[in-house]
Amino acid sequence: MANIELTQLKGIGPSIVNKLNLIGIFNLRDLCFHLPFGYQDRTKISNISDLQPGDEKLIKVQILSAQTIYRPRKMMVLKSADLYSNINIRFFYFHPAQTKQLKAGTDLLCYGKVSLSRYGLEMIHPEYEVISNDHELKEKKLTPIYRVPKGIGQKKIRGFIQAAISKLDFEEDFLDVEKYDASLNMKIIDALQIIHNPEADIDINEMLPGGSHPARVRLLKEEMIAFQAGMAFLKRKQKRHHAYSLSKESEWTAEVKSNFPFKLTGAQARVVIEIKEDLAQEVPMMRLVQGDVGSGKTVVGALAAALALDSSFQVAFMAPTTLLAEQHFISFKSFFKKQKEKISLLTGSTSSSQRKKVLEGLKDSKIKLLVGTHALFQKSVEFSNLALIIIDEQHRFGVNQRLALRKKNDSEKSAPHQLTLTATPIPRTLSMSVYANMDVSVIDELPPDRKPIQTSCLPLSGKEKLIERIAATIKKGSKAYWICPLIEESENLDLNAVMETHEDLSEHFGQDKVGCLHGKLSAIKKQEQVQAFKDSKTSILVSTTVVEVGVDIPDADIMVIENAERFGLAQLHQLRGRIGRGTKESFCILLHKDKIQDVSSQRLQVLVDSQDGFKIAEEDLVIRGPGEIMGAQQTGIVPMKYTNLVRDSQYLMETKRVAESICNKEPELANQLIERWISGSIAFADA
Ligand code: ADP
Ligand code: MG
Repeated sequence: MANIELTQLKGIGPSIVNKLNLIGIFNLRDLCFHLPFGYQDRTKISNISDLQPGDEKLIKVQILSAQTIYRPRKMMVLKSADLYSNINIRFFYFHPAQTKQLKAGTDLLCYGKVSLSRYGLEMIHPEYEVISNDHELKEKKLTPIYRVPKGIGQKKIRGFIQAAISKLDFEEDFLDVEKYDASLNMKIIDALQIIHNPEADIDINEMLPGGSHPARVRLLKEEMIAFQAGMAFLKRKQKRHHAYSLSKESEWTAEVKSNFPFKLTGAQARVVIEIKEDLAQEVPMMRLVQGDVGSGKTVVGALAAALALDSSFQVAFMAPTTLLAEQHFISFKSFFKKQKEKISLLTGSTSSSQRKKVLEGLKDSKIKLLVGTHALFQKSVEFSNLALIIIDEQHRFGVNQRLALRKKNDSEKSAPHQLTLTATPIPRTLSMSVYANMDVSVIDELPPDRKPIQTSCLPLSGKEKLIERIAATIKKGSKAYWICPLIEESENLDLNAVMETHEDLSEHFGQDKVGCLHGKLSAIKKQEQVQAFKDSKTSILVSTTVVEVGVDIPDADIMVIENAERFGLAQLHQLRGRIGRGTKESFCILLHKDKIQDVSSQRLQVLVDSQDGFKIAEEDLVIRGPGEIMGAQQTGIVPMKYTNLVRDSQYLMETKRVAESICNKEPELANQLIERWISGSIAFADA
């Protein structure tokens, strides 16, 4: 199947091939393993009286009256009913032909989401079909829903997948994983048939993440095994490379030690020792340091860097944003004052003449420590003797990017050590799998004398009062971040929100006291705004979430987050982590819409009650499901197609064991599994 081209199927030409390639489908096997993420039930007609808001159902109705109204906006409203109850069907976009067609007396089959308005139950823009009164349902099976590329609809992809499955060849596609795990007793082909074509009486929930339908479990376990086998191979391959042993301590180390104004916490000291032990080895370190926001990861990174620098090697330090890279650049110059000239910055905003200088400096080894962003991944960036790569806030970088970095060392003989610093708190079973190719250290202690951040929720109607209160504290020397929500679909709307708030607050506090920070500003402008706030020239910084990661201004002590209910908990926790970094008492105010759902207020309450990132992440999972971690999954940082690592986490440990034994006993089988499930997503071959 892997070598059967897509064009072998009827209806697939070069342009469709291109589109399918975009979502990782290159051959018939990929089509078979393109698994649905949901199902619709179009096999049964529901009674309107049984509908609940939020349901997605098929109903059969007759139009009682059809009307186009213009208030509050133009729409067509079809008052409709089945034998017992009424429902309104609304369209905001419609053609004249539709107004003609959808008249009183017409019978309709509608599939859509049910909502409740003050006029009763509604369906807005359902898929519909005009039918005769004695219409019989065509669908006998559940309808799978797939991820599709632009330009290919559900119907089309369904057709392609059905055609591909009908060509599946059991012999050829048989991999004997079953003998390693008796619970995999269903044939893969049967599992695929069921997943793509479930009978109408199957409970849909059993087929979705967290569900335990045997076909689903069969597939997800195999994917988990493949993924974990991939990670195990990765770890082994990494360890096969040679690395320089770094154990000398001299000027650089002495400098951080004398310039860092605090004593390391016990946890920091412990992690530094773990790193030192790794760096002394002649195999590349692959270590992940997990530590909650504010736990002091930067200095740990600096101490690791110093070890490499003292052995006369180069170090690359990567941050996820230009803003953060610039902040780190400044911090490092203050950690290593006497070595300032040997430290450089490279980001997407570096001018081309400066860039040229940096590239030369790296080659002739005048630059020893390079701080930067993704820009470091570029081919033209070559080091002469890179021995250590430090990646800060790693959740923004994927496995592939980390692999790409490994190649930055010019020398064929040696691979650089890698240290990753992250605050992303995820449950332990998960991190053991997602980061299975790394060793993990945890900074589980905050610096002493931190006062807990006082967090409270406040409805938007209390905003004016809040502003007055903040004005009073600012007079006494407070500094406040004011975060406006990120509206992802529209950067412009975002910008508006920031501008408006900026104007609003400027009226209260004076133009020159309020800074403004957002993604559209140039790197220099951003840096200026942060610096002005740092230097207390401004006392309020209105910002989007660009300050989310890493920004460190220890005397800022107030944070207001507008529309807090729109953010994920982990993100709120990250944002809030910008304050409470010094010894001052600090306050976080979560502004929310006056009326919010119970779940939302329950979620915000988790933040009010806790400041522990791991705990918050776990609570978030319980309340809301695995949104945030899955965000990482969707962006390809965790390259799994089908498994939902959080909802399906109960299988992690057993599949890890199976994966290990397959890797040991039958590496070829492991390779085939990797090929089947994740070959497209990780460049394992390059490790
Ligand atoms: P994060 O882990 O979020 O990256 P940072 O490294 O930015 O945290 O540190 C947060 C703040 O805590 C900084 O202002 C830093 O100077 C301070 N800090 C770090 N380590 C200590 C320590 N051992 N004692 C006191 N303050 C510390
Ligand atoms: Mg940090």
